[in-house]
Amino acid sequence: MKTIGLIGGMSWESTRSYYESINRLVNQRLGGFHSAKIIMISVDFAEIEWLQQRGDWQKAGELLAECGQKLEFAGADVVLICTNTMHRVADQVQQRISIPLLHIADVTGAYLQKSGYTKSGLLGTRFTMEQDFYKQHIIEKYAIAMLIPPREDRQVVHDIIYQELVKGEFNSRSKDQYLKIIATLAENGAQSVVLGCTEIGLLIQQQDSPLPLLDTTELHCQAAVEFALM
Ligand code: GLU
Repeated sequence: MKTIGLIGGMSWESTRSYYESINRLVNQRLGGFHSAKIIMISVDFAEIEWLQQRGDWQKAGELLAECGQKLEFAGADVVLICTNTMHRVADQVQQRISIPLLHIADVTGAYLQKSGYTKSGLLGTRFTMEQDFYKQHIIEKYAIAMLIPPREDRQVVHDIIYQELVKGEFNSRSKDQYLKIIATLAENGAQSVVLGCTEIGLLIQQQDSPLPLLDTTELHCQAAVEFALM
């Protein structure tokens, strides 16, 4: 079994999901007492959030690249950045390591393609929904149209992530707001919705929505386990 390297803490609420999910999946595959080989570095999210606000992606990239190097040095065979947003600096991290970085948009794009979806909604931080690093990656590499909510809805989705989800607050009012936004995406032709923020799956689950939901945390973990057991 290969060793999975995690760059976590963005937020630790969702990193906990990564740790649980990867271990559960390995045990489902191998049975008995088996669990995953994981090395994790957990950053201080306040430092990252500050750099995001200032748009200092260069500095944020250096910070995460350093984490990637430490994971490689410690013996990881693959690196996962446990957040969609920080894939903004994925190239910077990959350039500094010689082990593969499992890109969350690749995992998501490949799953969309395999499932036969041609147009999918995308929810995430404003960085993820509005900038090119995520959507464009999927559009260009996997030929899937990505639909984002209108401006006011994007702000709602973004604010709920930073004011509640990353702080471990999950309430029914915010859940209803998300479900209304998903309904609008469906009306506009989305065949599925990518939960492109690793905390959203902690707020809404498949049974809440008539539209198929793609939890990127879960997909990322499945791909990591595939890699580790290959
Ligand atoms: N975990 C979130 C994501 O997947 C948001 C936190 C962050 O800014 O990294 O995008």
